[in-house]
Amino acid sequence: MKQKPKKELLLKLSIASFVTIIAASAIFSGLYSILLLLEVKIEDLWWTVIIATISSIIIGITLSTIMNIVFLNPINELVNVTKRVAEGDFSVQLKEHTKKNGELKKDEMSVLTHNFNVMVHELDKNKILKSDFVTNVSHEFKTPLANIKGHAEIIKKCKDPKAIKEYCDNIIEAADNLSNLTSNILRLSKLENHVILEASEFRADEQIRQAIILLENKWEEKNINLNLDLDEITICSDEALFLQVWLNLISNAIKFSNDGGDINIILKQYGQDAVLTIKDEGIGMSKEVQERIFDKFYQGDTSRAKEGSGLGLALVKKILDISHCTIEVESEEGKGTTFVVRIPMS
Ligand code: ADP
Repeated sequence: MKQKPKKELLLKLSIASFVTIIAASAIFSGLYSILLLLEVKIEDLWWTVIIATISSIIIGITLSTIMNIVFLNPINELVNVTKRVAEGDFSVQLKEHTKKNGELKKDEMSVLTHNFNVMVHELDKNKILKSDFVTNVSHEFKTPLANIKGHAEIIKKCKDPKAIKEYCDNIIEAADNLSNLTSNILRLSKLENHVILEASEFRADEQIRQAIILLENKWEEKNINLNLDLDEITICSDEALFLQVWLNLISNAIKFSNDGGDINIILKQYGQDAVLTIKDEGIGMSKEVQERIFDKFYQGDTSRAKEGSGLGLALVKKILDISHCTIEVESEEGKGTTFVVRIPMS
């Protein structure tokens, strides 16, 4: 695709040169014939040669100037900016050729210029994303590490066995957070590098029950009532990745529920889709928070920030995207949140 405009440009340049030669020859023979018709003596042919040569030179110079302006100047400009991009400067943008009504012109050079601008813009966005990613990761690592260091220093001076046990528990929790964070970053990075899904048939309802058992400590601690209505549904996808989806969604529902709250988990088949609904009566989210929950490292509720790292839903979304499933959220602040996952079964 990229080679096409260049090829067409070369073709145009060759045609233009060819036309220059033809034009010069035509003028030369035209003048010669006119002089013959006018019965100018053949001795006067020298004048014909001189006039034809001068005309060819003028036409040649005019055509090559036009070619320079129309084709070569933009190419030179493109060559210069490509060099800057190769050196890492993604701020460059070429002047785009538009019609009077602002619409982009359709000729090859205009299309090439536009595509080049889009490409540099995308590269620039990626650069920002990468630097944001490093800043976020560093920040997320710093907090648990500072916790571990702080508590270890206190333990060194502490004589009370009960307090020491409590500080050790804090260290273990901070280390667990670090370990979860690293696993989530690894999982995301694997998925972003288009890991091949290992599809197999498995019972979604059984897997959801398994996730609930794995999270038993969390919901028991908060006296959460879990109401299950799960139909027997077999799906064909990557089993390990789907367990991750249920774990993240259910643990969020528990985390953002108030003590003693209700969580309803319903799995039903509607037409060709298996639909899982997870509904909690927790703190809910504002519209602004809802718009950003699938962004990496985004945490809407900062009071529970240390219990996560803002990667859970980014991971859920990525897994569902690559598995051709969808996720929707409905939420109201102070009332609760409902997540709906739709899994095509055919
Ligand atoms: P974290 O690990 O911080 O929970 P997630 O990616 O899982 O990160 O969630 C991102 C944000 O989405 C949370 O910080 C929270 O603000 C919001 N969120 C997710 N699930 C719920 C829920 N069930 N109720 C309220 N807010 C939620």
